[in-house]
Amino acid sequence: MDTETADVIGHDVTTITCVCGNTVSKDGLIQANSEGVPVFIGESSPAPAELAEWPADGELYTLCPSCGRVYRDSVIEETGTAPVAFRVDVATDPMAEAIRVHWNLST
Ligand SMILES: [Zn+2]
Repeated sequence: MDTETADVIGHDVTTITCVCGNTVSKDGLIQANSEGVPVFIGESSPAPAELAEWPADGELYTLCPSCGRVYRDSVIEETGTAPVAFRVDVATDPMAEAIRVHWNLST
């Protein structure tokens, strides 16, 4: 199977147009860890149980909450392309709950 690739402009992960058509300004994209779990961005700690801690190695991924495709930020920044790294199931818990918590915190 060919690797799916999202459109991205200028090595900037915030410009991703997901394979499903989602963008930051549409349904939004979420910073995630290497398992696709949304990371906690707030200053206070610890992170809510549903969310992942900020990766100690700084290796971030970008989760599309619409379809569950996940992109690796470092690949985008280095190559200017956005191949789908893996895909998670955003419709079922705990991922669905983590996404809800993420949006609750960021609004
Ligand atoms: Zn998507």
